[in-house]
Amino acid sequence: MDYNVKSMKAEEFINHEEILETIKYANNHKDDLKLVDEILAKAKLRKGLTHKEASVLLACSDSEKVKEIYDLAEQIKKDFYGNRIVLFAPLYLSNYCINGCLYCPYHLKNKHIPRKKLTQEEVKKEVIALQDMGHKRLAIEAGEDPENNPIEYILDCIKTIYSIKHKNGAIRRVNVNIAATTVENYKKLKDAGIGTYILFQETYHKENYERLHPTGPKHNYAYHTEAMDRAMEGGIDDVGIGVLFGLDNYQYEFAGLLMHAEHLEAVHGVGPHTISVPRVKRADDIDPNEFDNSLSDEMFCKIAACIRIAVPYTGMIISTRETKEVREKIIRLGVSQISGASRTSVGGYAEKERPHDTEQFDVSDNRTLDEVVNWLMRAGYIPSFCTACYREGRTGDRFMALCKSGQIQNCCHPNALMTLKEFLLDYASLDTKEIGNKLIEKEINNIPKENVRRIVKERLVKIEEGDRDFRF
Ligand code: SF4
Ligand code: SF4
Repeated sequence: MDYNVKSMKAEEFINHEEILETIKYANNHKDDLKLVDEILAKAKLRKGLTHKEASVLLACSDSEKVKEIYDLAEQIKKDFYGNRIVLFAPLYLSNYCINGCLYCPYHLKNKHIPRKKLTQEEVKKEVIALQDMGHKRLAIEAGEDPENNPIEYILDCIKTIYSIKHKNGAIRRVNVNIAATTVENYKKLKDAGIGTYILFQETYHKENYERLHPTGPKHNYAYHTEAMDRAMEGGIDDVGIGVLFGLDNYQYEFAGLLMHAEHLEAVHGVGPHTISVPRVKRADDIDPNEFDNSLSDEMFCKIAACIRIAVPYTGMIISTRETKEVREKIIRLGVSQISGASRTSVGGYAEKERPHDTEQFDVSDNRTLDEVVNWLMRAGYIPSFCTACYREGRTGDRFMALCKSGQIQNCCHPNALMTLKEFLLDYASLDTKEIGNKLIEKEINNIPKENVRRIVKERLVKIEEGDRDFRF
């Protein structure tokens, strides 16, 4: 099969031979400093790189050039995302699953874990607990099980989540991470008002994919890989892709990930909204050492830097799977969204202590949301609870157009300050409040347009008086 970025067939747009060719090219040219310089010069134009070019940067081991790659990633991050970090939380609805994924404790054959599916009353409890922490943006997760978790169940949960207004809390954006499904079901999700549809490829290597997914509907590589095309056909124009690093050779996954992004852009006119970079973690019945492609922290950071350079307009997400130390490093290099105070078990938020019995993976970062917000601010970042774009209809190509024009900065920065102010007033500890208010005062001056600055100042007063949900 030949490589064809516009093909609708998985094995043509994620073409095995093209990936092998790319890796060979990258390894043969990794010390070709002239070529590396040319690629870096192109990357500095901030228009992105091809999978082949980015793969050369990833393979390059010259310490000076690697430093340049890191510096450029940091600079692009600053130019496009400033010092803001958007916060979200995963919400596990059900761990019933009929698939046999070898790296996930929810796989069908795992009989050690109790199976659980939240009732609507329990969803409500979870959402209230999440609102009481200060979350505004959720990613819902559920195993694949047409009997226990049919699309109607997911739609009911979304409806429940959006309907709950508890004190000053509200979930303003629900992103959905459920199994690959039909165009018809994607249309239903779109109509339910979801934000991003997220589906990790896990691995782009077909043979390995089939081995890691021996049973269940997920075994079908093409159906899974072509899911984003169906989602877009169903009207969802913000999609989030990702691989589970550690399942296959990282160079292979990296090239596949970028080829997927190129395919979406070529066919639908808009690339992925986000790219997630999870790594295989320990969990019940899962030992990451069994996967011989595990990745060092250093290479993990380099991958993040190269993604940042290759697709500057695509948000990058990191989860609580990573330790505080890795998060600190990788945020600087390009991550724009992180999860905070996550509980990866079904019904975990309504419990006082973090329950372990139904966890999908071991959380390495156990801090509360207040602690995460506090830490981010001390490290010089503005924690943001902004959900404005999707609610203002700025999705898909409209969002990308605004991004590419650089105008999005005029929305993100003020929205970050106003949503942070809400958090400080409603949920923060005294110490966090103090740091946050100082930060807001300082950062107001970094709003470039004078009239926007004035409006933000007026709105901050209104927020103090009890108004909520202002946005640009
Ligand atoms: S990764 Fe998803 S599909 Fe696979 S076993 Fe876990 S919950 Fe099921
Ligand atoms: S304005 Fe849009 S792009 Fe910026 S933080 Fe808010 S939702 Fe994200």
